[in-house]
Amino acid sequence: MKNEGLNYAKIDACMQQRGYSGVNIQAILPPNPNFDKIPNKTIIVPFIEDNLPKVVEMINTAKPYSFQEYLGYAMVWGMRALSQGTYGIGALYILNHEGQEWLIAGRNGLATDMDTSKHAEMDAIDAVESIARGEDTYKDRVILRRKARDDNDRKMIMTSLDPCPMCRVRIHNHNIPLVGVGNEDTFAGSMVGANADMMPPLWKIIMEAQGTQVTLANDNPQNLAYIDPQYLPVVKQMFELNRDDIDRALKEGVLSNISDIKTIALGLVRMFGRRFNNEEKIFDPGIKAIRGAKSISL
Ligand SMILES: [Zn+2]
Repeated sequence: MKNEGLNYAKIDACMQQRGYSGVNIQAILPPNPNFDKIPNKTIIVPFIEDNLPKVVEMINTAKPYSFQEYLGYAMVWGMRALSQGTYGIGALYILNHEGQEWLIAGRNGLATDMDTSKHAEMDAIDAVESIARGEDTYKDRVILRRKARDDNDRKMIMTSLDPCPMCRVRIHNHNIPLVGVGNEDTFAGSMVGANADMMPPLWKIIMEAQGTQVTLANDNPQNLAYIDPQYLPVVKQMFELNRDDIDRALKEGVLSNISDIKTIALGLVRMFGRRFNNEEKIFDPGIKAIRGAKSISL
């Protein structure tokens, strides 16, 4: 029987064809035991075989601290999301402090994490906030620590796709002055092109007050967001490859495991028991006090 899972040996061969040997592919794309069940796997496999080596090259040929390098790291996490069966979108939170640079990654986990909030940017910001709270939960998201290019403190977010309104709000809440975007998304994006003006006024006011700059990957060498044009199609395809499938699955309720009435009710029964014989049970003492209040005639 044909094994339709990711063929690491084949990816390795493609990697060598592009001049990279000894790359630990399993470290880049951890095995997904459910790979055979993911939608469109027959398209995803050849895409990853052809394009993972390009992402490796994209990072290794980029100038350190460049848009292309940061986008390359975000792409690795996007590829990882793709191979796990969800949207191919990755993000990177870049933090410079006291001459050091920290790179903190996120990836889409919508169809894989049982968590409707898991957009790539949300995942990266969740990691940053968790770290700021002193937790270790997202330690594996800190992908690189190095000497910064200068001693200025700064923040930037890089995402492989134009952020949706939900993510845009959180980006503004973090007062991130520079947002790098790999690919526009006229259908659902909110920070690039005409869509940027379609948010409620508050977010435009905040964006102007914070002086937020949004830069979209392009092939103009004079531009801050320049990337080698050969990689632009990879950025585009990584998302578009399975978008329709996942969009359709979302409409049909691929996340029903987390939003389905029966599943939620099962969670409630697990916490509060199944017994029900028409009596009211009030769990909140405040509500109990309100419902128990007697009206007094004065
Ligand atoms: Zn989003």
